[in-house]
Amino acid sequence: MRDTDMTRFQGIGAGIIDSHAHLVKEFFAEDQQSVITNMEAANVKQIVNPGVDLKSIPELLDLADRYKNIYVGLGLHPHQANEWDDTSWQIIEKQILHPKVVAIGECGLDFYYNNSPKEIQVSVLKEQIKLAHQFNKPVIIHCRDAWDDLFDILAKGPKPLKGVLHCFTGNTEIVSRFKTLVPEIDFYVSFSGILTFPKSQDIQEAAKIVDDNKLLVETDCPFLAPHPVRGKRNEPAYVWYTAEKLAQLRQQTIEHIANLCSKNAQRLFGLPNN
Ligand SMILES: [Zn+2]
Ligand SMILES: [Zn+2]
Repeated sequence: MRDTDMTRFQGIGAGIIDSHAHLVKEFFAEDQQSVITNMEAANVKQIVNPGVDLKSIPELLDLADRYKNIYVGLGLHPHQANEWDDTSWQIIEKQILHPKVVAIGECGLDFYYNNSPKEIQVSVLKEQIKLAHQFNKPVIIHCRDAWDDLFDILAKGPKPLKGVLHCFTGNTEIVSRFKTLVPEIDFYVSFSGILTFPKSQDIQEAAKIVDDNKLLVETDCPFLAPHPVRGKRNEPAYVWYTAEKLAQLRQQTIEHIANLCSKNAQRLFGLPNN
């Protein structure tokens, strides 16, 4: 292990799943293999590697074909929503039945950065929700400063729909609103390294009230490395630090959190239990 500190996580329960990582050459050009070895040594047994654009699909599928424990999401991130065109639906549809494709996404709304115009973000999210519904896949949602719009789109959109609010940055009120949505909308809540930051009190309070069967954990690596590796390039092995924070906040054992997050990720994404 690169961080001796991490040895305490080895052998906890049946391991854990990083529900959202960007394990691509853009960020892991030199050492992708050693990051995967490190993750396996740390008992991180599976990861979901969602795309942020459509040109990365061949790379994502190639990696998933080579590694049994890596799964793929196909989607267009809200930052790049203006890249969506007449061919995008077909490009995703063509690969959606690949056995390692487990989700649509990441897609969503980011009104904090607004790298693509709002109206385009909304319409491109709606298209991807339609795809998820049509092919009965979960949708990986990125939502920043856009909760009312997201609720509106989900309320009016196709049902049933399942998915995850990845890298959750909302508060207890948002969690409660999701709990009381119509039952045909089944959303999980995934926490990233942001949870471990001292200024994240709202997110920490939210993490206390997510139902056991809706809880997920992720790295969103290479971004947002948790305390105590904050500022470093993040990688799947570090998902344990966020799990440890969840355990502390929810007054549950780390074994319990690891088991919950693994079972929930397997149920949502249809991952094998191995
Ligand atoms: Zn995201
Ligand atoms: Zn992401």
